[in-house]
Amino acid sequence: MLNARPVDGPFRHLRSYANAVLIAVLFAIPWIRLHGDPLVLLDVPARRFHILGLVIFPQELYFLWLLVIGSALALFFFTALFGRVWCGWACPQTVFTDVFAGVARRIEGWKGAQRPKRIAAWRIVLTHVVWIAASAVIGFHLIGYFVSPYQFVADAREGTLHPVAVGFWTVTAGLAYVDFVFLRQTFCKYLCPYARFQGVLFDKDTLVIGYDEARGDPRGKKGTTSGDCVDCGLCVAVCPSGIDIRDGLQLGCIACTQCIDACDGVMERIGRDKQLIAYRTLKGVAGWAGVRPLRARVVAYGILLLCVGGAFGTLLGQRQAMSLHVAHNRDSLYATMPDGRVSNAFTLQVENRERQDRSFRIRLEENQDFDLITGMNPLTVPGTTSLEARVFVVARETGDSPPPRRVRFILEPEDKRSRGLTRETRFLSPGMTHGDG
Ligand code: SF4
Ligand code: SF4
Repeated sequence: MLNARPVDGPFRHLRSYANAVLIAVLFAIPWIRLHGDPLVLLDVPARRFHILGLVIFPQELYFLWLLVIGSALALFFFTALFGRVWCGWACPQTVFTDVFAGVARRIEGWKGAQRPKRIAAWRIVLTHVVWIAASAVIGFHLIGYFVSPYQFVADAREGTLHPVAVGFWTVTAGLAYVDFVFLRQTFCKYLCPYARFQGVLFDKDTLVIGYDEARGDPRGKKGTTSGDCVDCGLCVAVCPSGIDIRDGLQLGCIACTQCIDACDGVMERIGRDKQLIAYRTLKGVAGWAGVRPLRARVVAYGILLLCVGGAFGTLLGQRQAMSLHVAHNRDSLYATMPDGRVSNAFTLQVENRERQDRSFRIRLEENQDFDLITGMNPLTVPGTTSLEARVFVVARETGDSPPPRRVRFILEPEDKRSRGLTRETRFLSPGMTHGDG
């Protein structure tokens, strides 16, 4: 059941703009390309993560972890300062629920604040058709963060869309429909993990939406009590979570500000001061002093956030433009040639982390008693991709003297724009026991 139509007011207007901007940003991001690469794409099959121009390879997942930790700390930092500002203003759950409710009110032809008692069947059907179409668009853009939307559209046109992609689209669109049409703020109340640990992040100086009990109570019709609240119930009627903010701060309050606009409208009409419900600190609600932004927990979250940002910047600064990973071939650890020499087969994975194609030469460190046999050398690796090369290393000794136990590979860029990389690994030969090396 939809709550009453939100009351016009400054917060409602601001929210409409914020919603429009947020949806535009969320939908635009999968389409934006930076230097030919997606701005954000978590390309799981190719094991590449494109984040704001940075292409993260599987060996660099610490960048992703730092981003996740940094985002969580930023959320803690802003929550400690401004309460549920994320829930009320930026969470896609709130934004899309708002939009879906607005669509329903328009199509169902609401005249007043409440849902009409009778609604024509065609209006209800049309509302669901629009909701389903909107869910399909949301689902498409959501999977656009994992599959390039350009590729998706091209495949759809050619009829070569992979069934898994179609399946993901159907599931995400279905979840969006169920969530924004049926769950709505129930999701915030009972399912959202962020909502559950609000209590830990808040303190007495955190900004919340609060009712000024000292001023509002005792409640009653104008002229019957000394309190300013006329008990009209509008703040409860417009609340998407269905809570009564006059009962104090509750887990279900997503700080959407709709009760502020509603109550301010009432106060204006009856000629009383606005802000009976307003942004205030928990101390403010209790009638104590005002905001105190510099508090221990805010400073602690800020310092941690700076540390994570610093670590990210340092790692980024030290990042190498290429990488070499060496592994023994699993199918044959070593082989003895007819002349008695021992050979090992390796798979070299060469990563080119730059955007342009680069050529790399593979060689063994000099003064080792090994010969290297490769197919293609140098290797040309397209930009932001990796290439695997199978190579053989043959020990020069024959007969009784065992070959050296370590072999060092060197990868050098042909353009000499960066220094070469060295990787050392074991060379296996008959008679070596497990752990020799
Ligand atoms: S109490 Fe007010 S701010 Fe909180 S969810 Fe309800 S309408 Fe939004
Ligand atoms: S909208 Fe304001 S006046 Fe009306 S019940 Fe809520 S707090 Fe009281």
